[in-house]
Amino acid sequence: MTNPATALPAELRKPAILIVDDAPDNLGTLRTILLNQGYQTFVATSGERALDLARRILPDLVLLDVVMPGIDGLETCRRLKAHPATARIPVIFMSARGETDDIVAGFDTGAADYIPKPLRLEEVCARVRAQLRLSRSSDTHEQADRLRMIVDSMDQGLLILERCGRIQYANPACDRYLGHAPEALVGRSLADLLVRAEGAPACAAMEAIGGHGTREVNIRHRDGGVRAMDLTMTPMHAQDGLFVALLHDISHHKQFEDALQRAAMLDPLTKIANRRHFDTFMEKEWQRAARNGEPLSLLVLDVDHFKQYNDTLGHAAGDACLQQVAQALEAHAPRATDLAARYGGEEFVVLLADTPAGPAARLAERIRAAVEALDVPNPRGGAAPALTVSIGVATIVPTARDQIETLFVCADRAMYAAKAAGRNRVETALLGPAWDVVKDTALY
Ligand code: GH3
Ligand code: MG
Ligand code: MG
Repeated sequence: MTNPATALPAELRKPAILIVDDAPDNLGTLRTILLNQGYQTFVATSGERALDLARRILPDLVLLDVVMPGIDGLETCRRLKAHPATARIPVIFMSARGETDDIVAGFDTGAADYIPKPLRLEEVCARVRAQLRLSRSSDTHEQADRLRMIVDSMDQGLLILERCGRIQYANPACDRYLGHAPEALVGRSLADLLVRAEGAPACAAMEAIGGHGTREVNIRHRDGGVRAMDLTMTPMHAQDGLFVALLHDISHHKQFEDALQRAAMLDPLTKIANRRHFDTFMEKEWQRAARNGEPLSLLVLDVDHFKQYNDTLGHAAGDACLQQVAQALEAHAPRATDLAARYGGEEFVVLLADTPAGPAARLAERIRAAVEALDVPNPRGGAAPALTVSIGVATIVPTARDQIETLFVCADRAMYAAKAAGRNRVETALLGPAWDVVKDTALY
């Protein structure tokens, strides 16, 4: 239910005055004069009714008769002061009892003022005005204190910024967020604390603080570390050109997200790149090779007679073997533009950017030898005492007419050719004029 006395913001509405008196004549006179002064008025003829009304309308002031049947004014005032909702409403007593004891008793209940009866109406108005002024200014101070307490104890960093990014105010939490005491931040530009994404233009940091809304930013902490934070900018309506900036540390969340992202790129068994990551990487390198006219080489590897290995030594031994092969592969793809991945089952791939067929074939041979040198016991025994791999190599200088699948098909075919030729060997695809087959040029 809307409170009739306080439905509008305090500065827009008329102050509401509750007049309590058991004499209807007094009520009528007071009401008329206070209405003429521009106040809202509410009336009650008993203490009980006054308490009920006060809790519902929360008036700005209560004019309270002392002598009334039922609960008298003193008790009414006590009860108003005892209830948290009405405790702060100023009460002015009106009484014909002018003895000092009566007046003291009135103030002891928590009253703000005491007006003798018979009432001098101008005096009543003056005292009402004075009390309202007093309580409004103490409300303002209290509100400011409360706001300061909230801002000081906030977990988020709060800044007041000028449009250019200059910091006018920083709350204590900024110390923890940025490593600088609030006083040291005042006068500095927030842009100086923002870390630009690699390659971003110089204005990017400033752009991050323009306008309003939430964006993710990287902030350089005084300890040198970079923290990922959500920065929320809100223009201050009452203060043109100023913004409230809220900083919320999301480093932990970011680290978790990065770890998830990394995990999504890895094959859970071998911890090298998975097929999805390889396909994305391949797409990028293909485009780059096409742009630069550079050769791109692909190695497809398949473990020889792996079914038999599994069947003889068990799945766990097979898993361990795949891990060893993966590590050997990764050790041979150290450049940022190389990528070894498990493509499925016991099949692996290695992509080598800017690598012609000759060096690619020699690297494949080194990988083949490295797997053999792992000396993983081969249950087939006999001529091949260690577990081996067969490798197919294909190289292309991609053009707009070529498709990635072609490179895969060729490398796969070469791998099957290696199987057909007796396994534990490297075969290179021989295809079209773009396919460079160099078996013995300089070392990779
Ligand atoms: P080839 O020399 O012709 O490649 O023979 P192969 O036995 O290696 O080929 P095949 O495709 O018949 O068998 C592949 C085996 O790889 C079958 C499957 O048990 C095994 N394998 C596939 N993925 C995994 C895995 O994640 N862990 C284990 N332990 N074995 C796997
Ligand atoms: Mg296979
Ligand atoms: Mg196999």
